[in-house]
Amino acid sequence: PLVLGIETSCDETGVGIVRGTTLLADAVASSVNDHARFGGVVPEIASRAHLEAMVPTIQRALDTAGIKASDLDGIAVTAGPGLAGALLVGVSAAKAYAWALDKPLYGVNHLASHICVDQLEHGRLPEPTMALLVSGGHSSLLLTGDITADVRPLGATIDDAAGEAFDKVARVLGLGFPGGPVVDRMARTGDRKAIHFPRGLSGPKDPAFDFSFSGLKTAVARWVEAKRRAGEEVPVADVAASFQEAVTDVLTRKAVKACQEHGVDHLMIGGGVAANSRLRAMAEQRCERAGIRLRVPRPGLCTDNGAMVAALGAEMVWRNRTPSALDLSADSSLPVTEVSVPHGDLHG
Ligand code: ATP
Ligand code: MG
Ligand code: FE
Repeated sequence: PLVLGIETSCDETGVGIVRGTTLLADAVASSVNDHARFGGVVPEIASRAHLEAMVPTIQRALDTAGIKASDLDGIAVTAGPGLAGALLVGVSAAKAYAWALDKPLYGVNHLASHICVDQLEHGRLPEPTMALLVSGGHSSLLLTGDITADVRPLGATIDDAAGEAFDKVARVLGLGFPGGPVVDRMARTGDRKAIHFPRGLSGPKDPAFDFSFSGLKTAVARWVEAKRRAGEEVPVADVAASFQEAVTDVLTRKAVKACQEHGVDHLMIGGGVAANSRLRAMAEQRCERAGIRLRVPRPGLCTDNGAMVAALGAEMVWRNRTPSALDLSADSSLPVTEVSVPHGDLHG
């Protein structure tokens, strides 16, 4: 199936086009620079930027793919979770195109899309697949079957998401926003054993598949603060590397354990933090040792994009799932278990 996907849950206006599991176009317009001076995404600015970028980005994707909108078999869009105003821009655009072109509309879950995008790189996901979803707003272990209908949470963060921790530590170190990519870069020249930061929820009595990163974030802030108060220079690269080591250690250890306890031999890692070079390297080592097949999309497909939405849309068409009604609305707190959204009045 030939499907166009629209993503506007945060600050990326993404439009992707796929044919089955083949990526034809992945156009992204980001408003990230407009938010930088505020140290985080400003919802109102994001919505306005989506509004301006939406139609040109759709056009650019169609041009790149070399197809006409009338060739499409469906239009998929992120229905949630995310920023309400930002989501509404994408949902409204998708509804307008679906109605005008008389094509089926698929309102889908952003988090399931972060998983399904891997089909564009490594072919269709085996059933079951364990998914470690690590992004700006979420950190969860999910046991997945049919990705259009069957996503079972085994555990999640009880406080900050992994990406949020990267962003906060970057701020403490004065590295700017968003923090993930710059911490990743700084860490390359640092000593990851320089400082031992705490691994949250890693005790024998702790829940096996939940995460906690707020204690780690606080520990890093305290450590840096103490250095500054003592008038000493902060070894930024070492702090970045040691912090990153603590995050990736916990994530990969719990992911491997989840696979082993549930007898699953495929692990997928998705979401913006899956772009992290240390997480990818550590997961590769630990999965190999445990005999687990690892699937991680290339970094550009881990962060928000439209291709991931198109990938899940194609899967919906493939599996003959019922399209969404044209009264589809956005749900800013859509639970991860609701992979697709049939109507706009679900919670009305
Ligand atoms: P969600 O998917 O939970 O709604 P989001 O869409 O805002 O959140 P993503 O785009 O999936 O988040 O991921 C963005 C997050 O990923 C940010 O917190 C960013 O710092 C982090 N990130 C991006 N690249 C890297 C990297 N190389 N290393 C670590 N973190 C990274
Ligand atoms: Mg972003
Ligand atoms: Fe995301």
